[in-house]
Amino acid sequence: MSLVLHVDGDRWRTHLREVAERRTGLVPVLKGNGYGFGLARLARKSEWLGVDTVAVGTPGEVAEVATRFPGDILVLTPWRAFDAALIDPAHAPRVITTVDRLEDLEALIALGDGRRVVLERLTSMKRHGFTARGLRDAAALVSGPGGLRLAGATLHLPLGAAGENRVEVETLMTDVVAAGLAEPGATVWVSHLSTEDVAALAAQYPEVRFRPRIGTELWLGDRDAVSVTAHVLDSHPVERGETFGYRGRTLPRTGTILVVSGGTAHGIGLEAPSGEGSARARVSSLTRGGLDALGLARSPFTIDGKARYFAEPPHMQASMLFLPSGVSVPEIGESVPVRVRFTATVFDSVLVS
Ligand SMILES: *Cc1c(COP(=O)(O)O)cnc(C)c1O
Repeated sequence: MSLVLHVDGDRWRTHLREVAERRTGLVPVLKGNGYGFGLARLARKSEWLGVDTVAVGTPGEVAEVATRFPGDILVLTPWRAFDAALIDPAHAPRVITTVDRLEDLEALIALGDGRRVVLERLTSMKRHGFTARGLRDAAALVSGPGGLRLAGATLHLPLGAAGENRVEVETLMTDVVAAGLAEPGATVWVSHLSTEDVAALAAQYPEVRFRPRIGTELWLGDRDAVSVTAHVLDSHPVERGETFGYRGRTLPRTGTILVVSGGTAHGIGLEAPSGEGSARARVSSLTRGGLDALGLARSPFTIDGKARYFAEPPHMQASMLFLPSGVSVPEIGESVPVRVRFTATVFDSVLVS
């Protein structure tokens, strides 16, 4: 009774190794649902890859990673006093803290635990980060008394088109230089830059160590290494007009209600009704007898070669699909392919071959 993530182990590991070899200074990103694989598995794989540092999203994620990965752990969400207690003191020496506000830097200096900090410069993302001026003040604070140890500057770029982010980083690097954060031996942590972009930066700033933080390209970069299936749990023939579902709805069609694993608890959600949104498209779909014209939404489950419609919105752990008559109905226990967003899906199991 499962939504299963299948991993072609050899293929996946070959891809991971290729990325690790090509991406000098790689910092694997392990956050959220662990890109579908789970944080624990990615922590162990990071050790296997031989990296010295990984990144997690939040302080609350440190514990699960720290017990499985022996190196340093960069926390990507900037430090806030209200989250400070989430990190076990036993793990704290291995944690690198991101800071993006002067008041937080002052609070950390007051704590006096001599931790390592990276200073984030705001990018066109406008999520977190210092202004150019703020970065200079922050760098001055860290280099003053207070005992904080500088672990570099950090930039988080949008999912820019090839080349766009390089231009932005080059501009922001002038702020990093002005803050004294590009001295020989300095580290600049970056995201969403191609291998070529990072190489170009490294050539421009040979004294600086650029470290790419990578999640998606690493863990999900070879989509053919992963696939997702759901079990067929049940099926029931329905006549046109026969009621089904939580709300006793009916359809003017004969077919089969197919019950498959995977519901809202797994992150299976309603997709947009097939995209033919205009009134005219709906009318033409209606004349063709399309199920979207009946108000059904297309599901991510593929049966008999096609993405099928939800008979009603997904339930917590299962979904009811409508198969029009004529479609070949799979047996109970068969597995059917599902298209998911890996970062938003909780799998019942991950099977690595
Ligand atoms: C999530 C995240 C990354 C990794 O993003 P991917 O697109 O998965 O590679 C890098 N840096 C920061 C700050 C992030 O939040």
